Amino acid sequence: MTIITRFAPSPTGYLHIGSARTALFSWLYARANGGKFLLRVEDTDRERSTQPAIDAIFSSMKWLGMDWDGEAIMQFARANRHAEVAHQMVAAGKAYPCYTSAEELAAFRAANQHAKYRSPWREGGTPPAGAKPVIRLKAPLTGETIVEDKVKGRVSVQNAEMDDMVLLRSDNTPTYMLAVVVDDHDMGVTDVIRGDDHFTNTFRQLQIYDAMGWIAPNFCHIPMILGADGAKLSKRHGALGVGEYEKMGFLPEAICNYLLRLGWSHGDDEVISQQQAIEWFNLDHLSASPARFDMDKLKSVNAHYIRTMDEKKLAAMLNFPAGMENRVQSMLPHLKERADTLVELAASAAFLFAQQNPDEKALTALSEIGKGHIKALLPKLEATNWAAADLETCIKAYITESGAKFPVVGMPVRAALTGTTNAPAVHEIMVALGKTETIARLKAVL
Ligand code: GLU
Repeated sequence: MTIITRFAPSPTGYLHIGSARTALFSWLYARANGGKFLLRVEDTDRERSTQPAIDAIFSSMKWLGMDWDGEAIMQFARANRHAEVAHQMVAAGKAYPCYTSAEELAAFRAANQHAKYRSPWREGGTPPAGAKPVIRLKAPLTGETIVEDKVKGRVSVQNAEMDDMVLLRSDNTPTYMLAVVVDDHDMGVTDVIRGDDHFTNTFRQLQIYDAMGWIAPNFCHIPMILGADGAKLSKRHGALGVGEYEKMGFLPEAICNYLLRLGWSHGDDEVISQQQAIEWFNLDHLSASPARFDMDKLKSVNAHYIRTMDEKKLAAMLNFPAGMENRVQSMLPHLKERADTLVELAASAAFLFAQQNPDEKALTALSEIGKGHIKALLPKLEATNWAAADLETCIKAYITESGAKFPVVGMPVRAALTGTTNAPAVHEIMVALGKTETIARLKAVL
């Protein structure tokens, strides 16, 4: 049997990093098993669904490298099909029109806080003239509904605990429960992998499968992601939209690798490429307890991908001005060792293209003493062959001769050339900038 998974986001906001992990697990499970991965946009909440959120789902999925099979399904467009199934259930005696008015229901709830509402219309009756009913499931009153969940195991709920859920509203629109089940069934979904905030819905959804005589998919509810402090993940912890991570300079490969390890493991492996993940992924090594989001960890994974990325590809991401290829090529091996994100990398490379205003530490380094060393070093540099080893020897000779400690000379030079004091070795910087530019910058600070 072909494995068919799906990702079913509601386009009511940005594609959250936690949802991206859910998508990743579903995508990997399909790809690992030669199955299909389908995308369904659950846009039935017409007030909260927006086009920018729909666009963000598509673009974030593409950016993360999660391709889906076939066209994405738009759930709202299937409303007639959902209604059709509800009416089919009525015809089969599995559901019934309920004419309880909103006022009657509110009065019941006010009087019976936690009790299940049992509609008198379950037993039939003569409909009030002109009233538009909702359609409710005629749920079993006895027995139990059992979920065999891949992560949570076997969990059962007494049917007496569940009321007759509404399937179709009086305006003929489906409820979430009905739409999800009909769509998963029609799309042939074999494995539903989703966040465990949907776990309790599964019992209700199984009642719909049973009523229709449909075979239910396998369920796998993955624990939520918590913040580093153990509280529910929020913006404060870095629970941003996928697009935000792109803006912050994260690589999609790093995000996927990090998200994969957040709730799934393969021995002690931390760095797992997408190809490797497709080979290894299964549902057996999912953690049953919530994972904690750790921004520092994500950064260190990102730093790894920056360091190991093809340098030409990395250079292209810097979007540098024309004619600067040589400078980038000679400095990138040094800069990429120090950057956690592409934004940091770009910031650290800015000095290659133009002399930067000195930051606070650089200003301190460019004291009168610092400038004095630059002045004394200048003619020696001008007379030196412009190669890393020669420049290093020249600077060392000056340090020995002047009796100054290395930083006392190196810092002001670095500050003049880069505007910061935290940059690669000065002789490497000099080679990257070239003789004319180096001398010009040193003179400029004097
Ligand atoms: N649309 C639901 C959500 O975004 C997911 C429904 C499901 O996976 O069954 O939370």
